[in-house]
Amino acid sequence: MANPEQQDEMAGGCLCGAVRYAISTPLRTVAHCHCTMCRRASGAAVATWAAVAKEGLSVTKGEAAVYVSSASAVRKFCANCGAQLFFDYVKPGRWSFVSVGTLDQPERATPALHIWASNRIPWLHFDDGLPEHAEEPGA
Ligand SMILES: [Zn+2]
Ligand SMILES: [Zn+2]
Repeated sequence: MANPEQQDEMAGGCLCGAVRYAISTPLRTVAHCHCTMCRRASGAAVATWAAVAKEGLSVTKGEAAVYVSSASAVRKFCANCGAQLFFDYVKPGRWSFVSVGTLDQPERATPALHIWASNRIPWLHFDDGLPEHAEEPGA
């Protein structure tokens, strides 16, 4: 039987494999973000993020490059292949955000809500029944 702690371990990385990371703590909230900045940064219609306690997230190979995307946040990506990996608020906080699409097993991250639904592309439809917030709850 698998060690539950090992079972909780997750790993992921960029497209080219130059940057790899591990997550040793349970994911907190997983959200689909429809904001225009995530859209442009990811090149995708929606970006799905998992909140992870900072102490539980470690880069295990390579190093993520940093792009200061606004006064309040930075985005971290692979400088070689361009994959978006992490999002961090500039102000100190407990959580980092990991791009669910870069997890080795993204199916283990279960989305709980949509944020910035006010920016959703009209042709993008979900029937997941999850709550939709026009902006970020509590923001
Ligand atoms: Zn890469
Ligand atoms: Zn966003």
